[in-house]
Order: sequence, then C-alpha cells, then structure tokens
Amino acid sequence: MSACLFCKIVAKTIPAALVYEDEMVIAFDDINPQAPAHTLVIPRKHVPSIAELQASDAGLLGHLMLAGNTIAQQKGIADAGYRFVVNTGVHGGQTVFHLHLHVLGGRHFAWPPG
Ligand code: AMP
Ligand code: ZN
Repeated sequence: MSACLFCKIVAKTIPAALVYEDEMVIAFDDINPQAPAHTLVIPRKHVPSIAELQASDAGLLGHLMLAGNTIAQQKGIADAGYRFVVNTGVHGGQTVFHLHLHVLGGRHFAWPPG
C-alpha cells in the first residue's frame, strides 16, 4: 500500500467527501476549503506533480480538466466563473505530492495570486 495520502483516498482506505469519479480520476472536497466551493480532482494513477507528467499523460491531463469543468457545473459555479490551480513544487506551494487540480469558486479571486 502506498504511503501517499491521495492514493489512500483513491483506494478508499481513508475517507473523503467524494463528488465525482470515473475510470481515470476522482474528485473530493478539500478538507480546508479556501472558497465556498473547493474541490480537488486527482488522477487515480500516482503522478507526484505536473512536472512529472509524461507525453503519454496528455490525455490524462485533458481528462482532469474536463472533469474540473463537470464539477464546476455540478457545484453551480460555472456561470459566475471559477479558478483552476495546480500548485507545483516548493515555490508553487505544493504540499501533497500527488497531482491535483484545485477547482475553486463561489467568490471573486484576486490577481496576481498571493
Ligand atoms: P497543495 O497545497 O496544492 O498541495 O494542496 C493540497 C490540498 O490538499 C490542500 O488544500 C489541503 O487542504 C488538501 N488536503 C489535505 N489533506 C486532505 C484530505 N484528507 N482530504 C481532503 N483534502 C485534503
Ligand atoms: Zn499518490
């Protein structure tokens, strides 16, 4: 069994508030939400970060983002607008090293990011 927290969520050995799943990805609400809607979409396959994606993962990345759009619709944030975030590495603020797409919405987000 992997030591990776998000692999354990994929394996359902630790609980999460699942909002979407299909053959390639699963999505669950962030445990520490930064907006009224804050969901994480992750590949079932363990990829440590976006920096480790291979050319053969291009379809997986597209699938991840399309799932993010489905979740934005499901959460009712699609019309007002939303933000996708993929924190990568130390300067990117990544804390969990299993690739995840943050889907954030329900409020206005500033630019540039903090
Ligand atoms: P990042 O900083 O981009 O690596 O984001 C990791 C995210 O995972 C943070 O927003 C955390 O709040 C979230 N997180 C950590 N543990 C859990 C968990 N068990 N269930 C749901 N979200 C989690
Ligand atoms: Zn993992």
